[in-house]
Amino acid sequence: MLNKTIASLVTAPITQNIALIRISGSKSYEIITKIFDRSLPSYPQTNSQLVFGHIINPLSKKEIVDQVLLLCFYSPNSFTGEDVIEISCHGNLYLVEKILTLILEQGAELAQPGEFAKQAFFNGKLNLVQANSINDLIRAPSLSATKLALQNLNEESQKKLSELEEKFLQIIGIMEVNIDYPEYDEVECLTGKKVLESLQDLKNELVKISSLGQQSRNYQEGIKVAIIGKPNVGKSTLLNALLKEEKVIVSSIAGTTRDIVEAKYSLKDIPLLLYDTAGIHETQEEIEKIGVAKSKQILKKVDLVFFLLDNSRPWEKEDENIYQLIKQSKYLVIVNKSDLPSKLILPREIKKTNPLQISAEKKKLQSLEKKILELFAGDLGMNISLYPLLSHSWQQSRLKRIINKLNEVKKSLKEEIPVDAVIIDLQEAFHLLRELSGKDYQEDLLDLIFSRFCLGK
Ligand code: GDP
Repeated sequence: MLNKTIASLVTAPITQNIALIRISGSKSYEIITKIFDRSLPSYPQTNSQLVFGHIINPLSKKEIVDQVLLLCFYSPNSFTGEDVIEISCHGNLYLVEKILTLILEQGAELAQPGEFAKQAFFNGKLNLVQANSINDLIRAPSLSATKLALQNLNEESQKKLSELEEKFLQIIGIMEVNIDYPEYDEVECLTGKKVLESLQDLKNELVKISSLGQQSRNYQEGIKVAIIGKPNVGKSTLLNALLKEEKVIVSSIAGTTRDIVEAKYSLKDIPLLLYDTAGIHETQEEIEKIGVAKSKQILKKVDLVFFLLDNSRPWEKEDENIYQLIKQSKYLVIVNKSDLPSKLILPREIKKTNPLQISAEKKKLQSLEKKILELFAGDLGMNISLYPLLSHSWQQSRLKRIINKLNEVKKSLKEEIPVDAVIIDLQEAFHLLRELSGKDYQEDLLDLIFSRFCLGK
């Protein structure tokens, strides 16, 4: 794969002032010299070089295709680690296509989405976390999310993974010695307290990385929230109050007015996707029944439920039914209409959850917004620059498996299960850790990761 020379348009395929075409691979200079009318600096150079000239048709050398600027990089000092030439040409799509065709005719292959980043990964320019974060950076929905993605590109943030690998190796080493020389007293002692402590340290670090990753995922992908309650508790009023008009992108999912309304808004850069549901209650009416059934469906796909109650009405059977329905989900009890005299006496179980008091109509929502940030913004505001942010589901699932394996190892050691049986779990956990950085990898996972990139990246 590394022998391939690949090329593609890097900028969007639209008419624009300037477009950028990138060539990367060992044949880059051979190709460009055939279609460029000026001589290039002697090959290779250490620093990148900027050259002005014309792209010409190699079959009729007088035919100028475009006036361009070449930015020339020399292996290994380039994004991909290969020889790279970036051609800034005029952003007319006919020109772009013509230049790209000439490059392909000289022997380059059209790059697949993410293939430049894949080259960079294979050449050790990026680890897998950094490669992922390029895509996150491009797609980030807010300035905070871009900062987090940028942090992941930073070398410093990646050192933690190598440190953890080192700690794993130390423990594995101790265990191996123990298997080979079980009679040594000193070794006996190492498999006891010290190893358990090291395992606990490792686990603590991984739990922290997992939680930071989940929080950074909230900034990247947002959270889904269902607003649920009996009719007239103020669900729609709350939705509108949260949206603060100018941010409204309200779209009614096809169906009736008693269907679900979806709305996006952003709370301090955390994107929230809100579902205003039909009031869940017993109904004989067919259309309403569908709305109610859909509300129940929504519960399955959200991260959080706002369970809305009405301060001016008593706790009713409908509230109890809804509570039974949502209590397995993550939920917040919210008492709306706190501006009205209270007739609501909450069951003890509900009271224990510290319900939030709001008034959607008076736009008194501070307690709710504070709680959302507490739950989802976490401690990302703190100095976390020394941690990689593993927000993707494949990263989170590996972290979970590593933590589970470490728990098993600790349990086995405490139960004095023979070390040669215990070490297998530790080695598997170590392998999973190396998969996170990409030192060990499965082809299909790489394909999946890089196929999510845009063309030209
Ligand atoms: P939904 O059926 O749950 O969506 O309820 P609505 O949002 O349509 O509100 C039902 C009624 O309650 C409307 O007349 C609102 O103006 C009123 N309402 C909503 N929130 C408040 C509030 O915080 N205080 C008061 N006093 N009335 C509210």
